[in-house]
Order: sequence, then C-alpha cells, then structure tokens
Amino acid sequence: MRSVLVYRTVELRSDTFTRPCDGMRKAMYNAEVGDVCYNEDKTVQRLEEAVAGLLGKEAGMFAASGTMTNLLALAAHCKRGDEILLGHQNHIYNYEGGGASALLGVAFHPVATLGDGTNRLSDLREAIRDDDFHFARTSLVAVETTHNKANGSPLPPSFMAEVGALCREHQLVFHVDGARLMNASVALEMPASEIVREADSVSLCLSKGLGAPIGSVLVGTHAIIKEAKRQRKVLGGGWRQAGSLAAAGLYALEHNVPMLERDHHNAQALATGFSQIPGVVCDPSCVSTNIVYFRVLGLPAGEVVRRLKEQYNVLLGIGAYRGDRLRAVTNLMVTEEDIARTVRAVAEIVGRTNREKVDRACAGFKETLLAG
Ligand SMILES: *Cc1c(COP(=O)(O)O)cnc(C)c1O
Repeated sequence: MRSVLVYRTVELRSDTFTRPCDGMRKAMYNAEVGDVCYNEDKTVQRLEEAVAGLLGKEAGMFAASGTMTNLLALAAHCKRGDEILLGHQNHIYNYEGGGASALLGVAFHPVATLGDGTNRLSDLREAIRDDDFHFARTSLVAVETTHNKANGSPLPPSFMAEVGALCREHQLVFHVDGARLMNASVALEMPASEIVREADSVSLCLSKGLGAPIGSVLVGTHAIIKEAKRQRKVLGGGWRQAGSLAAAGLYALEHNVPMLERDHHNAQALATGFSQIPGVVCDPSCVSTNIVYFRVLGLPAGEVVRRLKEQYNVLLGIGAYRGDRLRAVTNLMVTEEDIARTVRAVAEIVGRTNREKVDRACAGFKETLLAG
C-alpha cells in the first residue's frame, strides 16, 4: 500500500480565517449579555469603550463587519450627492460592493494609490471641488492603514498629519479605514491613538489579525457615533445579545495584539525565503506587516495555488489586481514551521517546472521591468 503524507493545513489565504481559541470561546460563553437596542448589553458597551479609549476617541459602535463600519461612518458623515476622496486601490472603493453609492447616494472620487498606500497630496488637493452647484460636494477623505493592496504597508505618520491638515484647511471629514490599524501600530511602534489623532472616525476590525470570529468597531465623537447607531438600525444591524461576540473582541484586544509581532516576523521570513528561490519575485523590503505579495514566473498564479493546495495543503490567495500576484497573509494560526514548509513547497513546485519556461519568463519579466 502506498503511504500518503498528510500535512497540517497552512492557512495563508487571509488573517480572517483564524478560529477562536479555547480562552476566547470561554470568554464568549461567560459573557454578560443584554439587548443592544435597549442599551443593555454591558459587554458590548465595555468593548465600545475599550476601543474608543485605545484609539483616543469619545465613543464607539460595535457592528458585524468592517464593511459595515466603513459604510456607517460614511452614512453618519455624508449627505446624498456628496463625494468622497480615496485611493483607487482602497478597500472601500474596491471590495465593499460600492455600498456608499448603492445605498447612500455618495459618489467616489478616486485618486492614485501609490506603492506605499499613500496618495499624492497634490492629487487630493486638486480633487477637492469648488463650492459651486455644478459639482458634487466634496465632504470626506478616506485613507487605509495598513494598506492591504500596498503590501500591507502602514501609512507613514507624516502622511496622516498632512491629510489631517488638508482636511482641516478645507473642512473635510477625515475617515480612517483601520481594519488592520493594530498591525500598523505594532509595525510603527506607535500607539494607535497617536496614528489616528487627526482622524474624525476610525474603523477597526476585530476579525482580521486580532483573531475574533466577527466584528468591527467604529469610533469617533459622541455625535457621529449616535448617528452611526441610528443608521446601523436602518440597515438592520441593530443587534440584541451581541455580548458574546463582543467578549471575543475584548479577548482579542487583551491577548492578541502582542501576537501581531510574531505574524510580522513570520511574513518577513516568508518573503525572505521566497526571494531566494530563482523564478520567484518577492521583495522582503516591501513587507513590514503580515501581508506578502509575490509572483512565480513561468506558472499562472492559479496553477501555483492549485498545486500548493493539492500537494502540500498550503492555502494562499491570488491578489485580485495585476493578474498573477499571489498573496500570503500570516496570522495567529501560522507557525514558524509552517513558514519554512511553505517556502520549501514553493521551491519544489518551481524546481519541477520546466527550466526553459522559467528562464524565458524571467527574461521577459526583466524586460517589462526595464520597459516599465
Ligand atoms: C477586511 C477589510 C475591511 C472590511 O472588513 P469585513 O469585515 O470583511 O467587512 C475593510 N478594509 C480593509 C482594509 C480590510 O482589509
């Protein structure tokens, strides 16, 4: 009988795949709960206060997802016919179903996202419309940190300050999509409250690297959060005994923030390992948090994903833009051994690929790099 090696699954598709550990499940089981719509869930309140405190804002609102807290921020800040400025690679623009325009009558005005997730200040400035009835009303600027599509880069504090100043100058709202803000805080070695000091509202996901099964918190002024809660009810997001879910979020904030450093370390090791495989393009100097983008030359991304899954039980994703980019996201469940195994698996797959094909792709890639 042929023996089959069964590998442990290495889950690198996203940091959303983490499952609650025993401690988190116990916290959920033991949570004190009440009806959120009657303001009676103490655990939800504790979570909202904890996140508001952590981010240096007055109040918080717990909701089901980051998409929902981003949408509710826009609902609270904007009127129909308003226009918001944001990077063309931002999550709000690409991955939230166009919710702001579909549901709120708010138009997007995208400006270029640069390689580090920032935007040119001049682009933002030029995109602000004059106060003239021909134009949509520019009302808000949204940035994203860490920036998912820009290698998970934390936005530089200087950029945050510049956007803050621009918003003040033009009386625009400054919203931060901080789904992975705690990753930015760990990478920059800077308190999260400091990073978002200039922001009027911030959305923080508990279900990404922090490892909770669900949930996101929006923070801002009392007035903004009051309006966001009204809109949450309108959208059908007024929940009841959500304390069990909030307990998972509190547990995540208490126990899992320090774990992000290990995720970043693992991502760096993964990128370094990939960069040493001939035929793999990956730049470890671009990796500062838990997201690693790379390419395998001479093999379509889908083929790499399929072989890694079938032969090695290693799961990773395809970056949705620039066709053949692959994405690996380290998270709580990924160990150092998993990283080593993933690097070996990719090296073996590339090693078995027709040498001539890889060499041809490498040569082609250099040309396009030079041409670009
Ligand atoms: C995941 C994510 C969101 C939205 O979160 P969901 O909980 O999946 O709705 C928003 N912004 C960024 C940058 C994200 O990575």
